[in-house]
Amino acid sequence: MNQSLDQEIKYLKGVGPKRAELLGNELKIFQFRDLLYFFPYKYIDRSRVYPIKDIDTTQTFIQLKGRIMHFRIEGRGNNQRLTALFTDGTGTIEFVWFRGFQWIARNYQPGVEYIAFGRPGMYNRNLSIAHPELEPADKPEAELKSAFQPQYSTTEKLRNNFITSKTIHRYIGQVLSQAARIDETMPEYLVKKLKLMPLQEAVKNIHFPENNEKLKNATYRLKFEELFYIQLNILGQKKRIQSFVKGFIFSKVGDRLNHFYNHNLEFALTEAQKRVIREIRKDMGSGRQMNRLLQGDVGSGKTLVALMSMLIALDNGYQACLMAPTEILAKQHYNTITRLLSGMAVSVLLLTGSTKKNEREQLHKQLLSGELHLLVGTHALLEEPVRFQRLGLVIIDEQHRFGVAQRARLWKKSHVPPHVMVMTATPIPRTLAMTVYGDLDVSVIDELPPGRKPITTIHYYESKRLVLFGFIRKQIEQGKQIYIVYPLIRESEKMDYVALEEGYEAVTRAFPPPGYHVICVHGQMNSPDRDTAMQHFIKGRAHIMIATTVIEVGVDIPNASVMVIESAERFGLSQLHQLRGRVGRGADQSYCFLMSSYKLSREAKKRLETMVRTNDGFEIAETDLKLRGPGDIEGTQQSGMPFDLRISNLAKDGQILQHARDLSNDLLDDDPQLSKPENNLLKQQLSRLMKSRVDWSVIS
Ligand code: ADP
Ligand code: MG
Repeated sequence: MNQSLDQEIKYLKGVGPKRAELLGNELKIFQFRDLLYFFPYKYIDRSRVYPIKDIDTTQTFIQLKGRIMHFRIEGRGNNQRLTALFTDGTGTIEFVWFRGFQWIARNYQPGVEYIAFGRPGMYNRNLSIAHPELEPADKPEAELKSAFQPQYSTTEKLRNNFITSKTIHRYIGQVLSQAARIDETMPEYLVKKLKLMPLQEAVKNIHFPENNEKLKNATYRLKFEELFYIQLNILGQKKRIQSFVKGFIFSKVGDRLNHFYNHNLEFALTEAQKRVIREIRKDMGSGRQMNRLLQGDVGSGKTLVALMSMLIALDNGYQACLMAPTEILAKQHYNTITRLLSGMAVSVLLLTGSTKKNEREQLHKQLLSGELHLLVGTHALLEEPVRFQRLGLVIIDEQHRFGVAQRARLWKKSHVPPHVMVMTATPIPRTLAMTVYGDLDVSVIDELPPGRKPITTIHYYESKRLVLFGFIRKQIEQGKQIYIVYPLIRESEKMDYVALEEGYEAVTRAFPPPGYHVICVHGQMNSPDRDTAMQHFIKGRAHIMIATTVIEVGVDIPNASVMVIESAERFGLSQLHQLRGRVGRGADQSYCFLMSSYKLSREAKKRLETMVRTNDGFEIAETDLKLRGPGDIEGTQQSGMPFDLRISNLAKDGQILQHARDLSNDLLDDDPQLSKPENNLLKQQLSRLMKSRVDWSVIS
């Protein structure tokens, strides 16, 4: 029988409307094709059987061979469960079921030898497996003969309706035997040139691997194709924008930049800053519109690069603006910039939500007349009455706070799109930069200004609090300032505020007035109060600032030497790194203390260890990606991943990705519109993949 892959899943034997609906809702499997492209997340080597005595609970999935000694019903009401004691002669393990008792008791007998699969864990201090899969050891199912048994992710709901990994595998087997042909999705010349496994064979082997070698080739083929089409899409769009959209040409290095460089610059630029400024200047002089991502670790000196880029715009007769995610940051940028530009004829103004109405109107006028050169501000810059005479360059600081849609609104502020540079202090792993931000050019400041001492990071459990307070006291004696940061998470907001309050009281008790001045800053304060408190700290009048993560982004107080992060296990790696970056800005040694409870998940422990081990933002970002997976990395959800990854893993597949990107680049250079006959399939496949997807990259 030959059936089309477009058929609805409910027509597959054994599925029916109810299960079809479940598969659709839970796994987005609607058609036969979706089943084939629902890839296993891993394989279990069925040729290996574990002796029970060797099991430890860190193993994720194991296979045992042995006999059930007896069944027992335990607990009552909601807590009722069926248990079975299972032994293989080396030890015993308990199997536990919470549902379907009768079916189990009917189908499995004590004394019969079974192969059992499952995830071992501890339950009531006993080694146990909840809901193991069991099958008689003497007649393994035909489809399981291969040594590699694929595992498919399912959901609680599916399992409750008896759709397990094995069920899905069986459905896929049915589709494979019914559908005669899976059409190739890569042009034949590329399949040959790259020695890719043909699609039909790859799909078959990903679900039913004939052997290890074929499984490897199938995996490579499918990963390559996936990453290749993402690159082809992103790079294609980038090239299209470059050919349609003309950019302002900033050809002059004029008086302002020269004056600034020769007279106002307080220190020598780092080599990395120089290189990046050259890259930006070249880009803005090329006639193309610049779309650049500037990455630099916290404290690497991005502000200066931003300012000098803006001066280039000014020297060429254009205006520039710098947008920051918070009012505090915008104000700080404004202060820094006016200070750095002192004595120069550049007009700079600040626009935030709290700018007074008459000042605001004044500002609008000056902006429109061109009298105002440089505007610094928050989201307020995006509001309708803000119009520029000649906006040439937009710089966005800490972009992960800005949605893509907001970036798009800035674009519209000028008839020719201005050059755009997005700055981020959250290092983005290379693979993510190539996919999520694949349409942007990337500059990296990979060097800190000289004289910075690496921050010493220490992980303390609660029992060391007195030691910590003693240390803080000594630092304050040396004239230093201290941050203490508490987590604040929406789901646990109430309790988090309680913890903050209690912490504040404890610290005030340990550091009482009048000798010490402790301030507390958090999101429930109104903005003037918060500002006043912050100003106390910025001016050096307060010794300790207790805060929720409002200080996370960008505040620059060189005199602060200690960052204490409370409940550090609750923060993500990039957030920890950002917070730590608030200290270590002066020339003196700085410290970061990660306070945690004793109860740490394996991942939390890894995060804290990573922080203690390294100050390198890129290394931290890579670890973060490995621990969490790309979907969770800050900012990636809202930005332009054109389609979900089904098989590739950005933490692991960097090499395949690079290969796919290089190939896409070469292909598009040779055939920008993919109009050559041999590339016809590429074009078709791309538009099929992009159907119903939002086109993000146009608006970056
Ligand atoms: P970030 O990249 O985190 O935004 P900033 O631009 O705030 O970093 O710079 C951090 C600090 O380093 C600032 O106090 C700034 O004046 C200083 N700085 C920047 N560039 C240099 C340099 N080349 N030499 C010395 N100090 C520098
Ligand atoms: Mg900054």
